[in-house]
Amino acid sequence: MQAAVLEKFGTPLVLREWEIPSPGPGQILIKTEACGVCHSDLHAVRGDWPRKPVPPFIPGHEAIGRVVEIGDGVDNIKEGDRVGVPWLYSACGHCEHCLSAWETVCSQAQFCGYTRNGGFADYILADPDYVARIPAGLSPNEAAPIICAGLTTYKGIKESGAKPGEWIAISGIGGLGHMAIQYAKAMGLHVCAVDIDNDKLAHAKRLGADLVFNAADDAVDALRRETDGGAHGVLVVAPSLGAFRQGIAMTRKRGTCVLIGLPPGEFPVPLFDVVADCITIRGSFIGTRRDMREALAFAAEGKVKAEIELQALPAINQILERLKQGDIASRVVLEFA
Ligand code: NAD
Ligand code: ZN
Ligand code: ZN
Repeated sequence: MQAAVLEKFGTPLVLREWEIPSPGPGQILIKTEACGVCHSDLHAVRGDWPRKPVPPFIPGHEAIGRVVEIGDGVDNIKEGDRVGVPWLYSACGHCEHCLSAWETVCSQAQFCGYTRNGGFADYILADPDYVARIPAGLSPNEAAPIICAGLTTYKGIKESGAKPGEWIAISGIGGLGHMAIQYAKAMGLHVCAVDIDNDKLAHAKRLGADLVFNAADDAVDALRRETDGGAHGVLVVAPSLGAFRQGIAMTRKRGTCVLIGLPPGEFPVPLFDVVADCITIRGSFIGTRRDMREALAFAAEGKVKAEIELQALPAINQILERLKQGDIASRVVLEFA
C-alpha cells in the first residue's frame, strides 16, 4: 500500500510503499476512505511532545473506512461496516480510569498515528473495541473531522460547564474551532470567537459566532466588556502559548477555562486573579467513546457540518506546511481512491 511515513522527527513525511498489515487475533483491517489532517499531526511529526514513539510510523488520526478483514475472536463488528479510527486507538479496559469511563486518560492507551500506525495510508489496523461507528448518512469525508476536531471540542464544551444562554469563548478558529462554534450554538450557548486572522473571524461569523475578537487587538478587555464580565466557559484550542494566558483573562468569575491546544511549553498563570475570581483551569483530552457517539450524532442530524478542503495523500507535506502557516480555512481531508 501507499503510506506517508515519518522516518525522522522534524523531516517531511516520505511517501512510500508499506506492507499491508494483516489483522491478528482481536484486530480488524480497515481500507481507508478518508483521513483528516489535524494540527496534532504537525506536532507529532515535529516531535513537539514528551514520550515520543520511535519512528518510523504513519501519522493520521481522523481516519474513516470500511472493515475489510477481521481477526480471530472479533464478534462485535463485521466486514463492510464503516468505522473511524480516532486518536484513542485503544486502552487497557480495566484500570481505575477505564472502569470509570475515562479511557482517555488510561496509562496503557495507544494513540493512532503516533504510538500505532494511522490513517495516512491505504489500510489501517484497528482495535474493534475502540473504533467509532459512523452513522449511515454521514459521508466518510464529512465524518473524518468529527472524530477528532468535533469530538474534542464537543467534549471541551461539556467540560466547561457552560449552560444554555451563557457565553463560551473559543480561541483559535481552525479545524477544532470551526467545529466548536457549531457545537456550542447547537448546545444553546452564546459564542465569542477569537483568532489572530480576520478571515477566520469572518468565517466564524458565518458559522454563527455572536461576537468576534482579534486576539492581536485588546481582545480581553473588549470581550469582558461585551459579555458583561467574561465568558462562563473558555476553550483554548489555538496552538499558541499566548492564547492560553489570554483565555484565562477572558474567563468570568467562577468560570472555567478549558485548555485543549497542545503547543509545546509552559505559560504563566496570573495567580491572584485565578484565586480571587475562583476560576477553574482544566485540561481536556479528546473524548471518550460515549462522547464520540454523541458528537457523531450531532453531525448525522445535520446540526454541525465540517467544512472541508479535499486533497490526496501525495499533498500531505504541503498541507502540513500550510497548517504551520495558519493557511488552512478549516480542515483538509485526504480522500483515498
Ligand atoms: P489549526 O491549525 O487548524 O487551527 C489553529 C487556529 O488557531 C488557526 O485559525 C490560527 O489562526 C489560530 N491561532 C493561532 N495563534 C492564535 C492566537 N494567539 N490566538 C488565537 N488564535 C490563534 O489547528 P487545529 O487542528 O484546530 O488544532 C489546534 C490545537 O489543538 C493544536 O495544538 C492541536 O494539537 C490541539 N488538539 C488537541 C486535542 C486534545 O485532545 N486536547 C485534540 C486535537 C487537537
Ligand atoms: Zn486531532
Ligand atoms: Zn485503562
